[in-house]
Amino acid sequence: MRYLSTRGQAPSVSFFEAVLAGMAPDGGLYAPESFPIVFADTAERANVASMSFSFTASQVLAAFGAGASAAHLASDAYLPNPPAPRAFPMHVAPLVQIGPGEWVLELFHGPSLSFKDIAMQLIGPLYDHALAQQGRRLSVLCATSGDTGGAAVEALKGRERVDLFVLTPKGRVSEVQRRFMTTSGAANVHALEIDGDFDACQAIVKALFADAAFAARAQLSGVNSINWARIAAQSVYYHVAANTLSAHGPVNFVVPTGNFGDAYSGWVAKQMGAPIGRIVLAVNANDILYRAVKTGRYERAARSQATLSPAMDIQVASNFERILFEALGRDDAALRALYAGFAQSGGFEIPPAALARLREDFDAVSVSDADTEKAMQAVYGDVGYVACPHTAVALEALWTVDPPLDARPVVSLATAHPAKFPETVARITGVHPPLPAKCADLFSRSESLAPLPADGEAVKAYIRARSRAWS
Ligand SMILES: *Cc1c(COP(=O)(O)O)cnc(C)c1O
Repeated sequence: MRYLSTRGQAPSVSFFEAVLAGMAPDGGLYAPESFPIVFADTAERANVASMSFSFTASQVLAAFGAGASAAHLASDAYLPNPPAPRAFPMHVAPLVQIGPGEWVLELFHGPSLSFKDIAMQLIGPLYDHALAQQGRRLSVLCATSGDTGGAAVEALKGRERVDLFVLTPKGRVSEVQRRFMTTSGAANVHALEIDGDFDACQAIVKALFADAAFAARAQLSGVNSINWARIAAQSVYYHVAANTLSAHGPVNFVVPTGNFGDAYSGWVAKQMGAPIGRIVLAVNANDILYRAVKTGRYERAARSQATLSPAMDIQVASNFERILFEALGRDDAALRALYAGFAQSGGFEIPPAALARLREDFDAVSVSDADTEKAMQAVYGDVGYVACPHTAVALEALWTVDPPLDARPVVSLATAHPAKFPETVARITGVHPPLPAKCADLFSRSESLAPLPADGEAVKAYIRARSRAWS
């Protein structure tokens, strides 16, 4: 299996090359040359429902070109042999019924309590495997205002060939989120507290990647949501959930989304033969995806708005490029033209034929903070289910999507544990969600956090002094 750039001006690469690179050198994102069909016949599909998550993941990874290593990578991530600690409970992604034909897919039982753990826990062993084969080391750099940092720390702490540098804006992340980044105690994990906002952190990361000489010497790499490994890993829970519930027909999904990574993963599973119907994009007031689907114009907002669901507070949805590539019939020249327009004016019109294709698979709902609160109260009042605010955005979208979903079952994704947002959840529902036992001591662990000015040169000096990849 080879991977092509959506912009069509970079050579094709292998699965492992795509994963280590993150983005293609022409500025595009990697897409598989075709979507492999897995679990093709009915009997096989019925099996997926009872197969372990780890086994399903190994089949999906093998289909995507991870080769003979697929099975051991999947078991390292989801089903390690004792005495190695388990990152997930027995059911990696449990389905919880909340109404007639309505289910919540809980993706937050990993070490840092957000769905990002599911993909990140696979990226850890993937990196070690690929880097050992090539005799290389990497410095992984990421800017985070939310859950990516904690998931990256949990996945990469103690890894032989990777040093992790997480940039987080001073005073802008919740205490639970910060502690997941600062308490690993691992020598290869560096949490940097930047004296600036998230945009300042991201600007520094961009500047360091753009400095070709520095990036080469530090062997910089990223694990953000455009990495193909994240998409591949996230497609696994769609296969499992869809095959578990599809006895009477295709399963619809509602996905709380920001960068379109998780929703695109569902579309990928559908291309691979999973019995999936429609995918509803549930966004907060940061509604670029909602506007794109409803009006056909993809346009950056002037600024991102702070909402109750901060992990979805984005201006642009980086993985949208991938679905646009498909909707355009993989016409990379047309895609380049649209994104050239986007770079200039901050927006473009989706061509009518492509928009029609998008609407065949996707619908979208934008949910206000007030309606998010209402949904949290409703699902708690009706069935006693405590949802995090991101999960509540999806539930509200499930109940209000227009036109309504005409068939059940429908699965709404739960992307964070309510204990990750304790103040919000307590204020709205009156429930104080406790941290799970495995991280109940989070507030008594000692923290390590390096304060740095919002200055690229200071961050470079810090990395130079500590990266084991530096050459
Ligand atoms: C990152 C995140 C999302 C959004 O995921 P995308 O792949 O960017 O759409 C939703 N909910 C939570 C809790 C997250 O951490």
